[in-house]
Amino acid sequence: MIIVMRHAATKDDIQQVTSEVTKAGLMVNVSEGAEVTIIGVVGDKTKLNSDKIGSLSCVDKIVAVTESYKLANKKFHPEPSVVQMHNCSIGGKDLIVMAGPCAIESKEQLFESADAVKNGGAMILRGGAYKPRTSPYSFQGLEEEGLKYMQEARAKTGLSIVCEVTSIQAVNTAASYVDMLQIGARNMQNFELLKAAGKTTVPVLLKRGLCATIEEWLNAAEYIMSEGNQNVILCERGIRTFETSTRNTLDISAIPVIKSKSHLPIIVDPSHASGKKAYIASLSKAAIAAGADGLMIEVHPNPKMALSDGPQSLNPQEFKELMDELRLIAAACNRNLS
Ligand code: PEP
Ligand code: MN
Repeated sequence: MIIVMRHAATKDDIQQVTSEVTKAGLMVNVSEGAEVTIIGVVGDKTKLNSDKIGSLSCVDKIVAVTESYKLANKKFHPEPSVVQMHNCSIGGKDLIVMAGPCAIESKEQLFESADAVKNGGAMILRGGAYKPRTSPYSFQGLEEEGLKYMQEARAKTGLSIVCEVTSIQAVNTAASYVDMLQIGARNMQNFELLKAAGKTTVPVLLKRGLCATIEEWLNAAEYIMSEGNQNVILCERGIRTFETSTRNTLDISAIPVIKSKSHLPIIVDPSHASGKKAYIASLSKAAIAAGADGLMIEVHPNPKMALSDGPQSLNPQEFKELMDELRLIAAACNRNLS
């Protein structure tokens, strides 16, 4: 449930209500908006004397939150959340592009990619150090050595860095190297992994599962947030449908649906959604027009030689040209794209 305070409620009033809730053993989440303060309550409501709270003169009303996700719910936090990175913020007026290779293959390949994506206007360098491959015989990633290269690329370019983590051990290792942990589509409902990421203070990029509903996705975000880490960014990367012309089907409607249900930022990954570089420009434009807060795009210095996802990777020149086109769409949507 949420407790909506009256416009005139003071800090002391808010304190009185929150202590009433915490005394009963429940958790509070205070969201102070420009107009009104909302106190979200998480836990067993039967332990709470809601009539008493509802009768306080500083309380406007009590509203039940029927959805199972609370902290990720827009009702708890009506203002959009903005996740702060060292060189940018995600969820505000700026559109943030994360770009780089599917997998970190070598120091040279990563540094070349980092220069290329920075040159195109990306703010965050992506690169997989732990690769969740369909076949156990495919390249599995450089692991910690890859994370070290990412950190060097960060120092060289000033870009933030994001890497996927596929195990609790990888979360613990990567948390000290990266600016953002990525939980991949295949692990969206790996609840122990979500909880481990939630115990860190590193922002988490949570990709939508291959067959996950939006409700399941928001509950996955709730797992991270309920452990204390509120810095979650959602990433729509296409879902499995009967259609085989593209690797997955980009669910454009997920953007306005998420915006109506949650305060969390949402970005779109047109690379994994399409699987083909020819479609990346169209999907990126559609994502911006639909209100996405950013994009994640695979870029490789030489896609033909890529150890993974070459067919969906742009080369540096293609990335630069795409970014130029996207700036026009961003401007038309009143968003900034660097
Ligand atoms: C990735 O971004 O490298 C990746 C594996 O994506 P997804 O989890 O969306 O398949
Ligand atoms: Mn990939």
